[in-house]
Amino acid sequence: MEKINLLIVDDKPENIVALEALIQRNDINLLSTTSPNAALKMCWEQDIPLALIDVQMPEMDGFELVEILKSNPRTREILVIFVTAISKESKYAVRGLTVGAVDYLYKPLEPTITTAKVDSFIQLVRSQREVKRKNVELELYQAELIKAKELAEQAKQVKERFLANMSHELRTPINGILGISHLLGESPLNEDQRKCVDLLKVSSEALLGVINDVLDISKIEAGKFRIIPTETNIKSLAKAVVDLLKFRADEKGIDLNLEFKGSIPKLVMTDSLRLNQILMNLLSNGIKFTAKGSVDLSVSVLELKDGEIQIEFAVKDSGIGIPKDRIDKIFESFEQAQEDTMHKYGGTGLGLSIVQQLAGLMGGRLHVDSEEGQGSTFTYTNWYQVVDSNVEEISAKPGISELAKFENVAVLVAEDNLVNQFMIRKVLQNWNLEVDVVDNGEKVLECLKQSHYDIVLMDTHMPVMGGFEATRRIRTEMLDGVKNIPIISLSAAVLEEEKQQAYDAGVDDIVTKPFDLSVLHQKIEMLVRKKVDA
Ligand code: ADP
Repeated sequence: MEKINLLIVDDKPENIVALEALIQRNDINLLSTTSPNAALKMCWEQDIPLALIDVQMPEMDGFELVEILKSNPRTREILVIFVTAISKESKYAVRGLTVGAVDYLYKPLEPTITTAKVDSFIQLVRSQREVKRKNVELELYQAELIKAKELAEQAKQVKERFLANMSHELRTPINGILGISHLLGESPLNEDQRKCVDLLKVSSEALLGVINDVLDISKIEAGKFRIIPTETNIKSLAKAVVDLLKFRADEKGIDLNLEFKGSIPKLVMTDSLRLNQILMNLLSNGIKFTAKGSVDLSVSVLELKDGEIQIEFAVKDSGIGIPKDRIDKIFESFEQAQEDTMHKYGGTGLGLSIVQQLAGLMGGRLHVDSEEGQGSTFTYTNWYQVVDSNVEEISAKPGISELAKFENVAVLVAEDNLVNQFMIRKVLQNWNLEVDVVDNGEKVLECLKQSHYDIVLMDTHMPVMGGFEATRRIRTEMLDGVKNIPIISLSAAVLEEEKQQAYDAGVDDIVTKPFDLSVLHQKIEMLVRKKVDA
């Protein structure tokens, strides 16, 4: 055990000898002096946590000595016990305590009391040292923790940046591939060529699906996923999802049915994008894992309470079903029900994990009932605030909506990727839009000064001048009439911050690449109409 230095200061050597004899022990190191000045020097130079100091000394009395000790940071912490003969007079006791002594010993010294006091103060010193040592250790740990946390945050940021960049890099070419295969599909083709084009479409859609899933999972894990409720027409949404997947069901020769049960209000508050994602996932799985029979989506009202409504979406299929012992597993990332699922049906095992987490984030519940060989029913139940309680008649029968042609609408497109330029020009021309395409923001500014356009579609990252900068300059530098031109940002961004940057720059809306053509059509229509109305 570490020895503790104890200093005795007394002007009479015989008192020192007597005290030393009384308190001599193995775990302390006794130091002594008859001179207060020498005592000060010792306290300065050595590590002395405890001192027994005589009060009456000729050179400097004990009170003065302690005052000096207490006034110096280096010696302030020393525990001082006064040894005094001027017993029991309270004014001395008070003075001693106010200058900073911790206790008194009265002469003639009583051996048991003296050793007991010294014992307890030695104990106190040891505890204080232990606390100090632990504190230093804690501070070290804390510093390490802070460093580790900083590193983890840095790594997280690097990962997010990497994902955002990768997604941009991957989505832009996929956008091109999907658009071109769509255009190719509409041109006259022989049967073999059509098959190739179809395969091209299926593969690029599958690739896009995987990229989106991986991004979603990472965003959910990073707590970056925001649920944004807007006024949503649930019936139209369900119908749009069924219409979109009808082709796939037809290809497999299975029925895809939609049924509405109860008075479903026209508008409720929910994040339509995420609801769409949940239904798309469940229905796609239903179709994928069903070889014959049907897949049915039913949307039912369960309960109505205080302006809120509980709605259940049930996707029931007559497919392969899920073994009992695998039912819990299928909601985990990268888990599939059987060893050979990937081989037979493809997929990554991410879909249901995302659906379950989305359902949770939106405050709802996901449930599955399944019988191997008989089929499965996945239900998603949630409460919604009702915005418009009227009931709209929407036919549950599938149908394909033709995208309407525009009349006299001129679009300026800024996009630097050649494939995307070609694709988007074709798509827009098919909608009867007048199209000019440029490849950077500076050219957008020039074109807007020279000709009339009704709307601008603006890519984000372009050489010379990017989309944000160009948008900002249109909004601040252009003449009235051009200044307010509707701008849609064509973005491959997945991070909210980047979307926010686009809005901050002044865009009216964002279409995420690869874009859904009907969404792009709808947004152009809405913004152009709004401008005319204004
Ligand atoms: P993926 O479909 O990409 O494999 P999911 O996370 O969507 O991934 O599904 C996980 C697994 O759950 C699937 O691989 C499949 O084994 C099982 N599964 C999901 N939906 C169904 C269904 N409707 N019928 C049978 N099995 C299903």
